Amino acid sequence: MQNSILSHSTLECTGCGACSAVCHKAAISIRLNDEGFFAPSVDMSRCVDCGACKGVCYRFQSTASYATISEQRVIGCHSSNPDTHKTTTSGGIGYEIAKWGIENGYKVFGTIYNYERDEAESVIVSSVLELESIKGSKYIQGDTSAALRKFVDIASSDPKQGFIFFGTPCQIFGARELVRVKRFANDIIFVDLFCHGVPSYLVWNPYVKEHRDRLGKISNLNFRYKGNGWHQYSIKVVGERGEYTGMAYKDTFYRYFFDNVALNASCFTCSLRKQHTAADLRLGDFLGPQFEHREDGISAVLVASQRGADIMAELAKRGVVTICGNYDASAALCAQSTEDYGRRSLRDGVLTHLKAGNIKESQRWYFRQLPLKTRLRSLAKRCAALMPIGVIIALRRLSRRI
Ligand SMILES: Cc1cc2nc3c(=O)[nH]c(=O)nc-3n(C[C@H](O)[C@H](O)[C@H](O)COP(=O)(O)OP(=O)(O)OC[C@H]3O[C@@H](n4cnc5c(N)ncnc54)[C@H](O)[C@@H]3O)c2cc1C
Repeated sequence: MQNSILSHSTLECTGCGACSAVCHKAAISIRLNDEGFFAPSVDMSRCVDCGACKGVCYRFQSTASYATISEQRVIGCHSSNPDTHKTTTSGGIGYEIAKWGIENGYKVFGTIYNYERDEAESVIVSSVLELESIKGSKYIQGDTSAALRKFVDIASSDPKQGFIFFGTPCQIFGARELVRVKRFANDIIFVDLFCHGVPSYLVWNPYVKEHRDRLGKISNLNFRYKGNGWHQYSIKVVGERGEYTGMAYKDTFYRYFFDNVALNASCFTCSLRKQHTAADLRLGDFLGPQFEHREDGISAVLVASQRGADIMAELAKRGVVTICGNYDASAALCAQSTEDYGRRSLRDGVLTHLKAGNIKESQRWYFRQLPLKTRLRSLAKRCAALMPIGVIIALRRLSRRI
């Protein structure tokens, strides 16, 4: 197959799902692979080697024609609604954009946590009530395939239907390429996220199972619980027999996530994480000195197009968003993961260990492989997380200076 996604590329699959949605022979399905990531599987008896899948794929299409993130402006802001601000990940701007969209007739493409499958998955919603399940980051890879196919059906039959698309940078790149190739004329606003990468389900599945065994059926999962302060990165799991709150650097899942040892292979060098965005707006945490005293969460909104700028101006004019300041991109990017990640071979070793053993043993194994400096920094962060917030802020300032 010369012309399909099975051809050689130096880049790795992001699992964005665009190939599956563009295929008119339904030859591509998206499944979890043996490394615990969503990836395409091609049914060769259906494939006609038409090249459509290659035409939308990150591995074969350059990202360079899209906006360069370092050249854009960033707004520091948060939702003006205290409830929204409290129950969202950063400043709640994702929710406010989605709500504005629904009120103006758009459908919203976003990610929910599926409690039956214990997986993140994309959905298309049309009401403000349904936005509750989209609220909040799920720090695992989502399965976009069913929602993307639904999107293709709706957009093909109704060119007047508008959409607001939320997703990781690779998902938004795939969706945008899909729209380009399909020549959809629908009014579509693309919103991607500052992204650290996605950890494997080989970590998530045993982690969530352990909680379910102890807490019973899980009714709520908050990957970024703000009750201990926004800078603390806490995960909260609520079950029928009790609840668990884990702070980063102590919590098993968060440590795999932050140590970059079980991320998707494509995340290591992802040009969309580091350089370009196919979106109108990119949302994230405004970390760094400007807002280090804020424990309620401030959004960094990177404005990558005039359309994005117009939406933010509209939300500010309506008073649903409170603007804290306007900055060069560097003010937000300085605290984001915009470098290639190292230790790719350690990641491969960790996944091999995860397949054979349990997550805690694998964690002890990889911790011993890390350089001494990294181990000491990790231990210091774990100790620091137990201190009062004032001390943490002082330590953070100190570590920035040295
Ligand atoms: C895997 C992942 C890694 C991230 N890494 C960083 C980072 O390194 N730095 C940073 O500043 N911000 C990161 N973010 C973004 C950040 O956590 C918030 O999602 C963002 O700031 C929007 O929050 P909000 O308060 O504006 O709105 P919210 O209402 O909390 O919006 C959350 C939005 O994220 C979408 N979403 C949730 N989970 C997923 C998912 N698994 N895949 C795709 N879309 C999803 C939802 O559809 C919703 O639109 C990451 C998010 C994810 C999902």
